[in-house]
Amino acid sequence: MKEEIEETVAASRALAAAGLSDMVWGHASLRDSDGCGVWMKAAGWGFEEIDADRVVLVDRGGNVAHGQGKRHIEYPIHTEIMELRPDVGCVVHTHAPALAAFASLDAPLRAISHDATPFTDPQLPRFTDTGALIATQELGQALARTLGDANGCLMPQHGAVTVGPDAATAVMYAVLLERACRTQLMAAAAGGPHVWSSPEETEFKRNQVWNPAQRDAGWHYLRRVAEGITP
Ligand SMILES: [Zn+2]
Repeated sequence: MKEEIEETVAASRALAAAGLSDMVWGHASLRDSDGCGVWMKAAGWGFEEIDADRVVLVDRGGNVAHGQGKRHIEYPIHTEIMELRPDVGCVVHTHAPALAAFASLDAPLRAISHDATPFTDPQLPRFTDTGALIATQELGQALARTLGDANGCLMPQHGAVTVGPDAATAVMYAVLLERACRTQLMAAAAGGPHVWSSPEETEFKRNQVWNPAQRDAGWHYLRRVAEGITP
């Protein structure tokens, strides 16, 4: 089986294990190693329901080049980010609730725990062209431009995207962004936050706490949880 199919299945199940599901919506994609587009789950299935038979290859024009089932309407999120960011191998798009609630505050994300450090100093961008579905190539391109070289982008009235060179990174960034937003919502509900990491501490923690080995450790944990394996 092609590695990208296995990674798409693993990414989808890991996102489910992390609680980032929105019934059958949201998706992770892997760049096709032969340059034919992106591998992502077929429409109509939840993250936890994905297996190799429910993964499709979608080209930049929205054609399903391989696999059974329909493609998601929002495939341009993935194809256009991949087009603009040759360093990106995996894109995650999620409608998780805490990041959507946090985006509505129009407030800066603060590094009040480990989780926000990949997204602050510089502050992660916000895509404000529309809160509707990213259903056209033009909107996908606009989102990709707003993302720039960041690890993720909030999409107010909608959700977020996160990216990385591999599934481990993009999935972990999605999990961390949702947790960072939830933690700040808790602090805001209590009248804060009042203190957070300086830019220097943030930079240090990005490498200390969320270096590739640490991201991999979280990714493998989520995969074990997804497979129901307990230590
Ligand atoms: Zn969406």
